[in-house]
Amino acid sequence: MARVLCVLYEDPIAGYPKSYARDDIPKLNQYPDDTTLPTPKKIDFKPGVLLGSISGELGLRKFLEEQGHTFIVTSDKDGPHSVFEKELADADVVISQPFWPAYLTAERLAKAKNLKLAITAGIGSDHVDLKAALQKGITIAEVTYCNSISVAEHVVMAILALVHDFIPSYQWVIKKGWNIADCVSRAYDLEGMDVGSVAAGRIGLAVLRRLKPFDVKLHYTERHRLPEAVEKELNLTYHSHIDSMVSVCDVVTINCPLHAETEHLFNDALINKMKRGSYIVNTARGKICDQDAIVQALESGQLAGYAGDVWFPQPAPQDHPWRSMPHHAMTSHVSGTTLSAQARYAAGVREILESWFGGQPIRNQYLIAEKGRLAGMGAHSYTAGNTTGGSEAAEKFKKK
Ligand code: NDP
Repeated sequence: MARVLCVLYEDPIAGYPKSYARDDIPKLNQYPDDTTLPTPKKIDFKPGVLLGSISGELGLRKFLEEQGHTFIVTSDKDGPHSVFEKELADADVVISQPFWPAYLTAERLAKAKNLKLAITAGIGSDHVDLKAALQKGITIAEVTYCNSISVAEHVVMAILALVHDFIPSYQWVIKKGWNIADCVSRAYDLEGMDVGSVAAGRIGLAVLRRLKPFDVKLHYTERHRLPEAVEKELNLTYHSHIDSMVSVCDVVTINCPLHAETEHLFNDALINKMKRGSYIVNTARGKICDQDAIVQALESGQLAGYAGDVWFPQPAPQDHPWRSMPHHAMTSHVSGTTLSAQARYAAGVREILESWFGGQPIRNQYLIAEKGRLAGMGAHSYTAGNTTGGSEAAEKFKKK
């Protein structure tokens, strides 16, 4: 029987919800590219409830315990004395969410002598040192597509919030003001702007599709070019190199995975190739941007705004400079964990576990690594490397 160690974010401050704002969530039949939604044999939760926090337990306890497995759920994930680090020594399976990542560094993997499977309840397995995990032959799987559209919607919202300078206007209302000139002195229309996406995978393409009706000029850069028909349909300009794209865009949205090739891609040099007064929206991973370069560019005016919901490390320490830099519209990592997304990734995790314990292959679309190699989606979108360095700083986050 297996020990399944699951790391989830904490419950709401006021306690686990007793009721919800809405009675249900829309039922989707398939993802936009015809990929099927998760297909577990059964689920033990009501779609639309809070599953991603510790009391929600991803709806897995009954399923796992009925089969005789031990299920440990904790939010205490950082530092040598954390529950996660103690339990890791005996865990066979680890489940973690990108929003509250249990960093599986090489040091931790070395201690995890029984670990065979690491599941990401979401998308993005950069919290695992892929190089070390491949050497240990650990299987890594994530729930591909589960929250891609959730994030694409957040990106569109963040672009509009930055360009229209929404947040300061909202704050003036809270401050009981009616300061129109203060509100509009940095507000523009998106219409007519050049908007570029770094990557046109599930999220990137969904963002481009959603932006088309705004009458903007759309650009993208990718390792593999999109089919000509899609480029025509969306009137996309393809850039084989990121430099040429960022130099003509007013808004850049980052939608590629974090791996060795994209770490600190947006550094001083690249940001200085952007037009003065550009906006960046990064919902991919914090480490794709150089932390200090973003702060300096906002302070100098090279960037007019920065938004997104991804940080490094997570949770971000209270003194993380992105909390206090000017002209930002940052949220804590929430875009991919709406109640709608949670229902999909909880079902996807259950599908992966059913396959694993049933001795069946995990869906190729979900696989990142297997048998010491990048596999499935992982072989397509990732490079073997380590992007977890520095994650121990997450321990600095202290609750008030
Ligand atoms: P996909 O795998 O569908 O798309 C990723 C795309 O990035 C692929 O098309 C890949 O190209 C491309 N890519 C990889 N490296 C580069 C590079 N160096 N330059 C340009 N393009 C590159 O994933 P999703 O769209 O679903 O998700 C993308 C990322 O968004 C995730 O990896 C994750 O980090 C983040 N994410 C964030 C969430 C949140 O809650 N904020 C939730 C979900 C995801 P190719 O196909 O050519 O290899």
